[in-house]
Amino acid sequence: MATAVALRRYQNYIDGRFVDAQGGKTVKVENPSTGQIVSEVPDSSIEDTREAIRAAEKAQGDWEKLAPIERAGYLRKIAAALRKDPEHLARVISEEQGKVLGLSRVEAGFTADYIDYMAEWARRLEGEVVTSDRPNEHILMFRHAIGVIGGIVPWNFPFFVIARKVAPALLTGNTIVIKPSSITPNNAGEFAKAVAEAGLPAGVFNLVCGSGAVVGQELASNPSIGMVSVTGSVDTGVRVMEAAAKNIIKVNLELGGSAPAIVMADADMDLAVESIKASRVINTGQVCNCADRVYVDKRVADEFTEKFVKAMSETKYGDPLVDEGLDMGPFVSGDQLKLVEGRVKQAVADGATVLTGGKRDAGRPEGYFYPATVLGNCRQGMPIVRDEIFGPVMPIVTFDDLDEAITYANDSVYGLTSSIYTTNLDVAMRACKEIKFGETYINRENFEAMQGFHAGWRKSGIGGADGKHGLYENTRTHMVYVSYDLAAGNKK
Ligand code: NAD
Repeated sequence: MATAVALRRYQNYIDGRFVDAQGGKTVKVENPSTGQIVSEVPDSSIEDTREAIRAAEKAQGDWEKLAPIERAGYLRKIAAALRKDPEHLARVISEEQGKVLGLSRVEAGFTADYIDYMAEWARRLEGEVVTSDRPNEHILMFRHAIGVIGGIVPWNFPFFVIARKVAPALLTGNTIVIKPSSITPNNAGEFAKAVAEAGLPAGVFNLVCGSGAVVGQELASNPSIGMVSVTGSVDTGVRVMEAAAKNIIKVNLELGGSAPAIVMADADMDLAVESIKASRVINTGQVCNCADRVYVDKRVADEFTEKFVKAMSETKYGDPLVDEGLDMGPFVSGDQLKLVEGRVKQAVADGATVLTGGKRDAGRPEGYFYPATVLGNCRQGMPIVRDEIFGPVMPIVTFDDLDEAITYANDSVYGLTSSIYTTNLDVAMRACKEIKFGETYINRENFEAMQGFHAGWRKSGIGGADGKHGLYENTRTHMVYVSYDLAAGNKK
């Protein structure tokens, strides 16, 4: 592994100041396309994390006292700061995460748009007025901030997920401590610079870089945290929930997925092929809501498979900072590459046939590259069909009728996203009712809208993000019973 010439440094952002970890420890960040070290960031301790939590706690009361429209003003300033040099942000994201530049540009732009969208809710935050059993009473439901929120972020859409946690939390009067993934912390440092430029009061937004075992666990277990919001794997969700249970605090968990894509015999086959491929190779398959397993009607299985294999085999991949016009970059890390290689080997041992891909390109040993791969001859119950793959690998399973397809789709510990391709309205309507997932995409690729509600069933999570419902996840309710004299104001 080569060492980079100019090593950049990023710092934590605590109580309105950029600081190193107290012990001065750092971790290095790698470019997955080249293996080069590009930066070092703080490897923070429990004490660094506690300092950030204390700063957030101190700032929270005054922050909540501001009118929502004033808090929205600060959010808009962050969005404006992020829009100043989106190309720089996109390159930072691609460099450490490996996604193609076009997608990093979308991520950078979407992040600013998301913050503006959440700012728009300032004049729309609502409580409720409830009818009382008493003639002389009003019952009011207020929504208040929870307090200090711990936000734990993954590496796959690292920049956007920061905004997904920060914007609704801050708008509703909470303060926050963000912990980025140790694999992709540079973009979080860039986000902190935008916060500093926006002039947020000290302590409202804090960034602490470090490991999940140290910083993440402290955010989940510290008694001053009011809610811990994690996007990550199911294993991490379990550990965070266990730690949070000690303080009975709210958890918001956005976890893994294994999304089924059902292709009916009457589907627009070209649309199905194009959308499922797009949904499988985006971000090198490292997306929680990617199509992860295809179920295709036996009558059209040959036609679909032939077209799909051709489309996948044409997938262009390479170093996103060198080539534009790519479909995929490398995996984010060597560990991720090994994991997916191992899953494909296991599938072949279980009887799957490699129809395209399935092997690393020997000509590119320096980066964590892997080709788009299609596996035929797969059956329900194989680990490659059952588990989250998190790579550009698609197993194909055939079915006899819709009952069987829906049974296969629902047979999963995950319940995040799903899709179906059909031109029959009755089939689409049945699928809406019987597919047991938080999201179903009909005749389109899997990708949620910021005004929707992204929330998984089963082990894919608890609670959700985006839209009105995601915003209110960051609040708690307060019922107030106002009793009054029915004769008040009259002459006695
Ligand atoms: P991960 O679980 O390894 O890490 C996520 C974050 O949790 C990181 O910041 C990590 O440092 C931290 N962490 C790890 N162990 C921890 C612990 N014991 N306590 C507290 N924090 C800990 O996940 P990842 O590899 O970064 O991301 C990939 C996973 O995230 C996939 O399973 C994917 O499906 C899921 N994901 C889900 C969504 C969603 O919206 N549902 C979105 C993106 C990614």
